[in-house]
Amino acid sequence: MLLVDANRCCGCGICTTICPQGLELKVENGYARIINERADCMNEAMRACPQNAIAEIKEKLVFAIGTDDDKTIKANDHVGMANFFQILEYSDGELLFKEKRTNPKYNEDETRTHGDPGKAKATASALRGVDVLVGKRFGPNIIRLKNQFVCVIVREKEIPGIMDIIKNNIGSILVEKNKKDGKERSGIVLK
Ligand code: SF4
Repeated sequence: MLLVDANRCCGCGICTTICPQGLELKVENGYARIINERADCMNEAMRACPQNAIAEIKEKLVFAIGTDDDKTIKANDHVGMANFFQILEYSDGELLFKEKRTNPKYNEDETRTHGDPGKAKATASALRGVDVLVGKRFGPNIIRLKNQFVCVIVREKEIPGIMDIIKNNIGSILVEKNKKDGKERSGIVLK
C-alpha cells in the first residue's frame, strides 16, 4: 500500500503533474493524495518527489492511546497517568481497535511523582507488543519511553479524530520507528 506522508509533503504538485492518474492535490489542505496506486506513472512520481513523501507501507503497527473515558485522550495529565490504554492495530491503511488495557501503575501510584523510572517501567510492561504510544502530554519519562516506543503527541482530543491523524501520518511514524545505527528517536507532534 502507498501513502503520502502529510508531514513531509510540501504540496509542490510535482507528483500530480507527472502522474495525474494516480495522485491529486487535496483541496482542503494542499497535500497530495493517492487516488490510484496502480497507475503506470506512480513509480516515476515517487522517484520525482523532492520530499520522499510517497512511501510504500508494508508493516503492521500497534498503537496505544492513553484515555480515561474511551472517548477522549488523557488531557489533564501525562499519558502515563491514564486509567486505560486503547490498543489499536494499523494494517493496510486501516486502524482498528484490538483491546483495552488497564494501566496498573495508575492505581498503585500514590506519589504521582513525574519522571519516576519505576513508573516508566510499569507503563512499558503494560504496553508489551506496542510500537507507538500516543498522548496529549508526556512527562520527563519520555526520555525512557522513547527507547521502547515511538512517542506521538497529538493536539486533537477526540479519539476518532486522533485515529484519522495517525492514518495520515503513518509515514512519519515509520521513519521514527525504523531509525537505526544508533540514531536517537524523537517524539513526534502531529496535528
Ligand atoms: S511531489 Fe512530493 S512533496 Fe510534492 S506534492 Fe507530491 S508528494 Fe507532496
